[in-house]
Amino acid sequence: MSQKRDYYDILGVSKTADEQEIKKAYRKIALKYHPDKNPDNKEAEEKFKEAAEAYEILSDADKRSKYDRFGHQGVSGAGGGGGYGGGMNMEDIFDQFGDIFGSSFGGRGFGGGNGGGQRMTRGSDLRIKIKLNLKEVATGVKKKLKVNKLVAAEGVTFNSCKTCNGQGRVLRVTQTMLGAMQTQSTCHVCHGTGKIIDKKPAGADAQGLKRQEDVVEVNIPAGVGEGMQLKVSGQGNAGPFGGYPGDLLVVIEEEKHEHLQRDGENLHAEAYISFTDAVLGNTIEVPLVEGKAKIKIEPGTQSGKMLRLRGKGLPNLNGYGSGDLFVHINVWTPKKVSSEEKAMLEKLGQSENFSPKPEGKEQGFFRKMKDFFQG
Ligand SMILES: [Zn+2]
Repeated sequence: MSQKRDYYDILGVSKTADEQEIKKAYRKIALKYHPDKNPDNKEAEEKFKEAAEAYEILSDADKRSKYDRFGHQGVSGAGGGGGYGGGMNMEDIFDQFGDIFGSSFGGRGFGGGNGGGQRMTRGSDLRIKIKLNLKEVATGVKKKLKVNKLVAAEGVTFNSCKTCNGQGRVLRVTQTMLGAMQTQSTCHVCHGTGKIIDKKPAGADAQGLKRQEDVVEVNIPAGVGEGMQLKVSGQGNAGPFGGYPGDLLVVIEEEKHEHLQRDGENLHAEAYISFTDAVLGNTIEVPLVEGKAKIKIEPGTQSGKMLRLRGKGLPNLNGYGSGDLFVHINVWTPKKVSSEEKAMLEKLGQSENFSPKPEGKEQGFFRKMKDFFQG
């Protein structure tokens, strides 16, 4: 950093040089060290960049006055992200050229960085939503989707673009201060594809495409979830001028299940048992994704108990097993009782055995969760 040369020295001008003198001095140095005239010459490139940086500062009244007062410190950081200290890239420098050498000088394109060759145009992506029920999520499903898309119209023929000779790019030779310079740009006639339409049937647009409804078969793997996006390569809109197609993006929407709630790979179900079943035990049915399962209610089951049915959840999307189904047991309390029932219940209520004595596992939700996941 301390080795940075004085900007006035770099351009070889005095501290009192005016705008014209600075511009003239820079032009001279830029011509001398221009990369096209000094291929593979690192030293020339450095000098070229150094001069560009000096010009950047001294040609701007505000930056110049800061530099005059504070030196390099005053202007470093002015360009954002570390300032100009070795920070100007070739693009910036060539952008600057427009001001100095006139706008006819396109600037970019030397160095061969942009390469020739035609550009294949790509069609745009299409997005489509599909609704899946839980069973389809659990098993995976093949869906035939109707997709309204752009396809290559039949009977369209192309000719090689005459403007660019099918290259997609045009070379322009411009006389500049630096001598004859070649600039390359995308052919505006064929948009870089190198082709123009020769014959097109009715219904085809100017790019050789037409819109039609297609049926695309999509394989949806088991275990997908709400909002996931599946990519079907090459099933989007066809590319203009015979280019290649975009992709079809299939966005998953999940239908709510009547009884089962999803939590990742696990499922949750609520089960209601009668007070007598809770006391005496029974076997009840719980809904599965497909069909039902019978589960045993032990005598003395508390309301809020959770039962776990291993592997009865949803399959892992990557094929690593399946989640579980958690059945939450609720004891159903009748909302009205007959006078006869009331009498029986009052009698039961007097029994010491019917007063709550929570202990151990019955103490709360978090304790229950802990027991599950330690097992
Ligand atoms: Zn062309």
